[in-house]
Amino acid sequence: MPDGSPLPSNTTPLFGQVTFVGTGLINGSLARDIRRLGLAERLVGTARRQSTLDEACMLGLVDEATTDTAEAVRDADLVVLGVPVGASGDAARAMAPGLRPDAIVTDVGSVKARVIELVAPYLDVRRFVPGHPVAGTEESGPGAAIDRLFEGRWCILTPQDGTDPAATDRVAALWDAVGSRVERMDPLHHDKVLAITSHLPHLLAYNIVNTADDFEGVLKGEVLKYAAGGFTDFTRIAASDPTMWRDVFLHNKAAVLEVVGCYIEDLMALQRAIRWDEADALFERFESAQAVRREVVRAGQAYKRIPNGKYQRGDAQRLLSRTFG
Ligand code: NAP
Repeated sequence: MPDGSPLPSNTTPLFGQVTFVGTGLINGSLARDIRRLGLAERLVGTARRQSTLDEACMLGLVDEATTDTAEAVRDADLVVLGVPVGASGDAARAMAPGLRPDAIVTDVGSVKARVIELVAPYLDVRRFVPGHPVAGTEESGPGAAIDRLFEGRWCILTPQDGTDPAATDRVAALWDAVGSRVERMDPLHHDKVLAITSHLPHLLAYNIVNTADDFEGVLKGEVLKYAAGGFTDFTRIAASDPTMWRDVFLHNKAAVLEVVGCYIEDLMALQRAIRWDEADALFERFESAQAVRREVVRAGQAYKRIPNGKYQRGDAQRLLSRTFG
């Protein structure tokens, strides 16, 4: 199987072997950066399907790959769990027999409290550092992995009271090395924040696209024909992996249901303002939302559309097709 490029000569690796449990978009992108920056000596991948691993090897994301999870983690200094969050417990159980006692395990799941619960029966929680890089695209699989996905983006770590601080520091050093801004947070707080900033927008996108798709006949054809900025942006978000997002909603239920409730109240207020011609109320709501957008761009967390149709990030001056977390 093809090997990746050699380590850059002037870097000291942070880890010997890093094993990726799940070799899709997020773990594949992390593998690319670790390889490019020389942050590990050896990269190993595991996934359910041999075809996924063949692709990961062909792309040079990992040096070796096997569908045997325990075998894949056997010599790992660091294991990065990157599977749909609902599969975290099964993946942890599968890796447990092969893990070295001093190995550090981290994850990249979009939900934190439930993942901690799911893996706890199988892992030494002192060596498990829960994490969530707030970056991604609507694509999935090893072929979607890109360089520098995490540059300038937040990576939230949610260590517990019992987590070994040295393990947390080593995981933080990895994310720092790939250009992320590392923040530590309580897992339940993380899940509330992400329910608003990421999970609710995805739910809305899925729903808006389906509502449009439910129109019949000529109208449906015209929805597609005249799809303009707003709708096409929603279709992009709604193209995200259904398994990943099903798991996010099922495993962050309480926080998501709370923000959905707030959202429905606000939507009904807008509905009433439209019905009763409350122009000032509508204007005020739209104006305050516009101000939020300016703040997000200023914080470097948004992309401005530029003339060639791509997006440019406010602070990093770096082009990507688009990213969101
Ligand atoms: P992905 O591209 O679909 O890759 C998922 C990987 O997990 C694949 O290698 C897949 O293997 C494996 N897998 C799928 N189901 C599994 C199961 N039941 N048991 C064991 N392995 C399984 O997904 P991703 O976008 O990288 O997401 C991975 C994690 O990152 C998720 O927890 C997600 O919440 C989180 N995350 C995603 C984003 C994003 O924008 N996509 C952003 C931040 C965090 P096979 O191909 O062999 O099935």
